[in-house]
Amino acid sequence: MRLKTAGEETEFHDVDFGLQQMLLFMDAYSQHFFQVELVVTELIRTDAEQDSIYGDDPEYQADPWKSYHQFKRAADLRYNLTFEQWTELLTMAERLFEVPYDVFYVVHVPNNPDGWTPHVHIEIRVPYSEEMFA
Ligand SMILES: [Zn+2]
Repeated sequence: MRLKTAGEETEFHDVDFGLQQMLLFMDAYSQHFFQVELVVTELIRTDAEQDSIYGDDPEYQADPWKSYHQFKRAADLRYNLTFEQWTELLTMAERLFEVPYDVFYVVHVPNNPDGWTPHVHIEIRVPYSEEMFA
């Protein structure tokens, strides 16, 4: 597993333990079955970084939302597998970590209509943790 920057390298040791385990599992699976090393492009996000990403969005301005990145429970991965490989890998990760976590992911495929840089966002939710977002 490669971390995009020295900052992510440091942050890896500070994110949720379950997220660390899931990323290590996903990378091992990808290297073994697809011969592709995963690249983590974002881990922890500050409040200021969240504001700079969504600050131009009128919905965000009216009612700012939090990201799991701000709670050290999310990671972004470079889109360096095929869609079929991502589906297989994410299905495996979801099954392995469904207890005790609620695994959620979004795959931003290339040329997606919402304009996102292609990447895979994964987050591990703890059931009944809505108060984090209050
Ligand atoms: Zn993300």
